[in-house]
Amino acid sequence: MDDFYCDEVFSGKTPVEKVVETDRVLAYHHTRPFWETHIVVVPKQHVDSVLTVEDDLLIELMDVAKRVATHLIQEKGAARVLTNLGAYQDSKHLHFHVFSGERRS
Ligand SMILES: [Zn+2]
Repeated sequence: MDDFYCDEVFSGKTPVEKVVETDRVLAYHHTRPFWETHIVVVPKQHVDSVLTVEDDLLIELMDVAKRVATHLIQEKGAARVLTNLGAYQDSKHLHFHVFSGERRS
C-alpha cells in the first residue's frame, strides 16, 4: 500500500518544512507542490481516510487546517481545503491539502 506519510515523513526519510504541529497532527509544505502555496495536514498516527477517522482527531485536523487556511486567506485572499478518497486518493494515509495560487504543471 502506498503510504508516503508513514514510509517517508514520519520515518524521517524525507525531511519536511513544518508549518504547524500539535500532539497528533502535522502540517508541512508539500515536498512536490501542485500549487503555488501547498500545505498538507496529516495525522501522525496512521488513519486510512476521512471515512475512518475518529471524531476527536478529525476536529484536531480541521483545527490545524483552519489555522493554515486563515494564514493563506490573509496572505492571498483565497484558499482551498481538499481531501481525496477511493481512486482519487494517491497515498492511503489521510491527508488534507490546503492550497492557494496557480496550479503547477
Ligand atoms: Zn500511514
